[in-house]
Amino acid sequence: MAILVTGGAGYIGSHAVLGLKRLNKEVVVADNLETGHKESLLKDVPFYNGNLKDAAFLDRIFIEHEIKAVIHFAANSLVGESMENPLKYFDNNVGGTLSLIEAMNRHGVKKIVFSSTAAAYGEPETVPIRETDQTLPTNPYGESKLMVEKVLKWADQAYGIKYAVLRYFNVAGADREGIVGEDHRPETHLIPIILQVALGKRDEIKIFGDDYPTEDGTCIRDYIHVTDLVEAHLLALEHLDTHDSNTFNLGNGSGFSVKEVIDAAREVTGHAIPASVEKRRAGDPAVLIASSDKAKEVLGWAPVYTDMKKIIQTAWDWFEKHPDGYREGGES
Ligand code: UDP
Repeated sequence: MAILVTGGAGYIGSHAVLGLKRLNKEVVVADNLETGHKESLLKDVPFYNGNLKDAAFLDRIFIEHEIKAVIHFAANSLVGESMENPLKYFDNNVGGTLSLIEAMNRHGVKKIVFSSTAAAYGEPETVPIRETDQTLPTNPYGESKLMVEKVLKWADQAYGIKYAVLRYFNVAGADREGIVGEDHRPETHLIPIILQVALGKRDEIKIFGDDYPTEDGTCIRDYIHVTDLVEAHLLALEHLDTHDSNTFNLGNGSGFSVKEVIDAAREVTGHAIPASVEKRRAGDPAVLIASSDKAKEVLGWAPVYTDMKKIIQTAWDWFEKHPDGYREGGES
C-alpha cells in the first residue's frame, strides 16, 4: 500500500517524500514539474509527470499502485501572481483538487492530507490565530485553498473521504542531511533571499516596510521548519486512521520580525548582509502568528526547530552546497 504525494518534486513535497522514505513507507510521486525539480526526486520512488486535471493520468497512477492515502501539495503558491492571474489559481488549485478527489472516489481511496495556508485567514482579528478564527482571504491564492477546504468537507460527507487540512505559516529551512532543499524560481521568500545576499548573489535584502505597529517596525511572521511541518503530515495521516476529519494550524507559535531574521542570518553566515528599507509590500499583515496548540494536543506534534538560528542554519547548509539550487548554472 503506497502513499501518493502530489507536488512531490516541490520544496515541501520533496521533504515529505524523504520523510516517508526514512520511515520505509511506499511512496509514489505525481508532479507536473512546472515549479518542482526533477533533480529532487529520489531514485527509488515511482514518479508520474502530469497534470492532476487529467483524469486518465490519475487513473493510471491509482491502477498501477495500491494507493491508501494522498498527501496533496501540488498547487501554485505565489500570492502576487494570484492577484494578477486569479483564474490560474482557481483553475489549477481548485480544479486540480476536484479532479484528484474524483479519482480518489473512483478508486476507493479514503484519506487525504491537504496543504492549506495561513493565507486562508486573511488579516487576523487576534493573534495567535486559532483554527476557529474567521477565514477571509485577501488574495486568490488563499481563497483557492479555502475553497478546497470547503470541497473537502462535502466530499467527506458524501463519499466518506477523510481529510486533514493543515494550514501552514511561514515554512523555512532544509533537510538536516541536505538531501533536498529549497529552490523557488522566482524566489520571493524572506530567508532564501537573505541567504542569496550572504552568497553574493544579491547586493542587499530589501525590507518591505519598517513602519508597522511592531516593536522594530518590521513585519512579524511565524517560521516553521520544513521537517517539523512534514512530521505533522505523517502524524495527521496516522490520526485519520482512527479519527474524523480535522483542521490544524502549523507554526512555531512564536514570531520573528524581518529584522530579527536578518540578524539571525548574519550570525549564522558571518556575512554582513546589507539591508535597505523599501515601501511596504501590498497585502502584508503586520503580525501573523499561529496557535499550534491543537496540533500539539490532538496530533501529539512537537516541533524540534523552534530556534530561528537553527532553522536558518539548515537552509544555509543547503545553499552553501547548492548555490545555484538544483540546476547547475542557475538557469530555471
Ligand atoms: N520580506 C521582506 N523582503 C523580502 C521578502 C520578504 O521584507 O525580500 C518580508 C515580507 O514583507 C514579510 C516577511 O518578510 O513581512 C515574510 O515574507 P515571505 O514572502 O517570506 O512570506 P509571507 O509572509 O509573505 O508568506
